[in-house]
Amino acid sequence: MSGSFHYLQYGSKRIEYLLLSSARKTLEIAVHPDSSVVVKAPSSSELAAVELKLRKRARWILKQLRYFQQFVPRTPERRYISGETHLYLGRRYQLKVVKGELNKVKLARGAFIVSYRNDCDQKKTMALMENWYSQKALQHFNNSFIRCWVSFERYGVERPDLKIRRMKNRWGSLSNGSSIILNPELIKAPSECIDYVVTHELCHLLFNDHSRDFYNLLGSVMPNWERIKRKLEFTMA
Ligand SMILES: [Zn+2]
Repeated sequence: MSGSFHYLQYGSKRIEYLLLSSARKTLEIAVHPDSSVVVKAPSSSELAAVELKLRKRARWILKQLRYFQQFVPRTPERRYISGETHLYLGRRYQLKVVKGELNKVKLARGAFIVSYRNDCDQKKTMALMENWYSQKALQHFNNSFIRCWVSFERYGVERPDLKIRRMKNRWGSLSNGSSIILNPELIKAPSECIDYVVTHELCHLLFNDHSRDFYNLLGSVMPNWERIKRKLEFTMA
């Protein structure tokens, strides 16, 4: 079965679905507890016909999604106090705020140690942690870019530069075809997920939409991208 991701815009809602073409005669829509929408359609179906059917079931799909959403274990608001956990490259580390020599953050023996010379407060801890994350993001995103770029050199596209910028609701984007922008929050995700976001954006150098050609390219450069995408969504939920 071959599959590709598509979007259906329904009012203000955007429904992302995985379209699988199968040997079946009728269309089947399933909404799974991980909030994925999988559509199995006869292999002869036109995308427009699939969209028409989805549009008719859109209210039902959204209702199912809302139902499953309530069970998603969301990371509670971080308070930057000892005992809570913080993510880094897909792993959770316990935070320990201690008295020490300098105001600094270090990762040691499976924990984030934030040490203070004077009294600490949550705002300062947050600022120190964010600064630490930014430095790591710079280093890891650059390495990821170098790793992923290797597969794209052969296409004769110009090498974009890499920028880091906070964005709402997205991990990466390609700006003017000349800069890849990554969200610094992505440093909390596993390294293969960072590579997935970089690879996705690099594919946009050749195709600026989410067309079949785009997904064919993505699949050829990163055959297991769907598993990694789910891992990213799961880790960062
Ligand atoms: Zn995209």
